[in-house]
Amino acid sequence: MANVLILGGGFGGVIAAESLARQLSKEHQITLVSRSSKFIFYPELVRLAFGKCEPDDISFDLREAMLDRRVRFIEGEVARIKPRSRKIVLAHGDVDGELPYDYLILALGRRLATERITGFYEHSHNLLTLEGALKFGDAIKDFHEGRAVIGQCPDARLPVPVYETAFALARLLEERGERERIRITIVSPDSDDLQFGDGDAARALHASLDKHQIEYLPDFPINTVTREALITSNGHAINHSLLMLLPPFRGPGPVIGLGITDNEGYIGVDWAMRVQGAEGMYAVGDCVNFSGPKMGHMAVHQAEVAAANVALEIADFDPVSAYVHEMMLVIDEGGGDTIYLHKGLWDDEPAIVRQGRFWSWAKRIHDKYWLTKHS
Ligand SMILES: Cc1cc2nc3c(=O)[nH]c(=O)nc-3n(C[C@H](O)[C@H](O)[C@H](O)COP(=O)(O)OP(=O)(O)OC[C@H]3O[C@@H](n4cnc5c(N)ncnc54)[C@H](O)[C@@H]3O)c2cc1C
Repeated sequence: MANVLILGGGFGGVIAAESLARQLSKEHQITLVSRSSKFIFYPELVRLAFGKCEPDDISFDLREAMLDRRVRFIEGEVARIKPRSRKIVLAHGDVDGELPYDYLILALGRRLATERITGFYEHSHNLLTLEGALKFGDAIKDFHEGRAVIGQCPDARLPVPVYETAFALARLLEERGERERIRITIVSPDSDDLQFGDGDAARALHASLDKHQIEYLPDFPINTVTREALITSNGHAINHSLLMLLPPFRGPGPVIGLGITDNEGYIGVDWAMRVQGAEGMYAVGDCVNFSGPKMGHMAVHQAEVAAANVALEIADFDPVSAYVHEMMLVIDEGGGDTIYLHKGLWDDEPAIVRQGRFWSWAKRIHDKYWLTKHS
């Protein structure tokens, strides 16, 4: 009998648990550990902030969902990992103390390094929790004049919700007849192709931003936020009256000091999603050290690969399932300028870029289907 432990109940953890439950026979034990028993479908948080859905529409109870799939769920905080003795240490939750494993899948997501931006917590809204999105939604209701600034801090690596928020805000202000009074600015720490590494996607996105009179300010590496202003490390500053920022990302806390991470704390993995330098350990999702943005569909694909390889190892075969790193996303403009982009990140093939109302609809249907299937 093998004992497989999965840490983190986000996209990566849930898919790894489900895939393993399908592939392993009943004598093997699968356990999912996460700090909260609530799964949150992050890509819908922009719509939540704009009142297009309710918290219950975009979250579900992991304990119940895992019970149906023969996976043991433990709510708890992973404090430490001990690769030599193949144990993890849990603090405050269902279990206090150590849990052993034969195989470990790390799906702990990214850490929000808000401490790197002075004033972030005090003065910026964010879209990284249900509560954060609802609070930002309340601020939007009370916002009637001035300048809205939306953007990423250096190393945030999550451009989609920034553009979607700017488009949703522009549309809402048009509906309220307030668009002329309000300036909307997107700030980005980078200068390249609006962060998608593709000229066609950048051109399509620039045209949509222009249509909505949304300014784009590249090379804007924020390091300080005050009540009224954003200040960069290269000496620029702009004022804001409404602010939504994504903070810098780093690798997760429990793997610090294990010798398996890069400079930013992301876990080093190979094509099979095996952690480099550790036995019986895999990692998937935002916590791994692959290039480009951090996205849910990547976490899902990586989790399927890791689960397939763990199942092979348990059956005494070599891992053969291979991950291919690609970016597939929809930037929902709310109408005909919605952009679909598909691009391989490990090859030089040109990206596939499509535009149209269909993609906005397709994203909604996909999200609803995903939530229904996995809840
Ligand atoms: C507003 C927003 C919009 C987005 N839009 C898109 C989109 O359109 N398309 C797309 O593909 N992606 C999108 N993403 C990105 C996507 O949500 C992430 O890439 C995805 O959630 C990563 O999944 P993960 O499983 O790696 O990590 P997470 O979903 O972050 O899950 C990590 C889990 O680990 C748990 N955890 C962490 N540390 C511990 C600990 N010490 N102990 C116990 N548990 C712990 C967390 O509580 C969490 O449950 C968006 C994200 C946001 C925030």
